[in-house]
Amino acid sequence: MNFLSLLEAKRDGHRLTPLQLQEIVSEYTAGQVPDYQMAAFLMSVYFRGLSPHETRALTLAMRDSGDVLRFPKDSRPLVDKHSTGGVGDKVSLPLAPLLACLGFRVPMISGRGLGLTGGTLDKLDSIPGFQTALPTRRIVEIVQRVGCVICGQTQSMVPADRGLYALRDVTGTVPSIPLIVASILSKKLAEDLSALVLDVKFGAAAFMPTNRRARQLALAMVSLGNACKVRTRALLSNMDTPLGAAAGNWLEVKEAVACLDGRGPEDLRELVVECAAHLLVQTRKAVSRNKARRVAAGCLAAGKPRQKWNEMLKAQGANLGAFERRLEQDSTAAVVAVLKTPKAGYVARCDARIIGELIRDLGGGRLTKDSALNYDVGIDQLHKPGEPVERGDILARVHAASAGQAKGALERLARAFQISRNKPKLRPLVARIIG
Ligand code: URA
Repeated sequence: MNFLSLLEAKRDGHRLTPLQLQEIVSEYTAGQVPDYQMAAFLMSVYFRGLSPHETRALTLAMRDSGDVLRFPKDSRPLVDKHSTGGVGDKVSLPLAPLLACLGFRVPMISGRGLGLTGGTLDKLDSIPGFQTALPTRRIVEIVQRVGCVICGQTQSMVPADRGLYALRDVTGTVPSIPLIVASILSKKLAEDLSALVLDVKFGAAAFMPTNRRARQLALAMVSLGNACKVRTRALLSNMDTPLGAAAGNWLEVKEAVACLDGRGPEDLRELVVECAAHLLVQTRKAVSRNKARRVAAGCLAAGKPRQKWNEMLKAQGANLGAFERRLEQDSTAAVVAVLKTPKAGYVARCDARIIGELIRDLGGGRLTKDSALNYDVGIDQLHKPGEPVERGDILARVHAASAGQAKGALERLARAFQISRNKPKLRPLVARIIG
């Protein structure tokens, strides 16, 4: 392969054939294309884009760069959910066991967080003993036996994305829709799925800040997913405000468990039920979304998904006794500080970006790929837009590693809130459904 001529062709706006894209991916994965040339190719794609046909070829070539999961034939459809990430987004944690109880198999291959938006694996790492690095055989075995697994990509799954994503991250080429589509779907297509629901966030703390860009991304992923025979839908959901009332790794696990126990915030339960309902309809297990919502909400309320969660934890090595004891603690951080409302009124703004940056700086998120995390820090008891407050009420609590850190955090956290005299008009959590 003459990589330079392919790179020049893309630079000049020509289309590449599936065979050429396959060669690019396989030679890069085999270490035969230097990073500087691949970086130039990625930049050409960033500016010139890829046609839907090219995006499909790139995605399939990336999927086939390593092992794909293969499951025995079974009446339970294989399904998954992917979120583009947001502050307080812990939907995957209660959703996986709920889906297993609804008769699905869920091989949920998740990622770590970078920047503001926490990663599911980082949250799970706060559970004593829980293992997110599993070999392929064990992933299949747990999915078949328990019904769900939440783990990281194995070394041998989609290696092309690992290399390409790291390169995109340092060359300013992450925000290219065809590259994002190929990166996300190559991993999802390696899971052998029947159906996939995508939660594409937009808003202050989202990867796609505007509704328009989020919609473009969702449309591209839905159309490619369906073309690859995975029934795919996307929800466009708002990320101006954190999801739920807690953000930070361990605090989010606690809130996910509250959701499984039939408690916890309404918006979290709504999104969990909504994702499950879409998958029930996509796999024709329910005839309408309303009926599917009732089935999913009923299953969640009946408590079985909480038992399934424990089963999944045990299968993935967690120490259940230590986990339950940790759940009983009000805080596992060194210091808890309280932010109070300066005046009565309604919460008009609770800014997810400010809160996400704050948690990252407390040590709950990463500034670089190698940053060590503090799982115990975060924010909880968040009051959300539309909620009435009296002067002196708690607006939120900060869990920090030291008193000095908590003091600085309270000052920043205050800037995330706005209190108004009148009740603000609220936007729906799910703005649109694509597919
Ligand atoms: N998540 C991914 O897995 N890949 C991207 O390119 C962006 C978000």
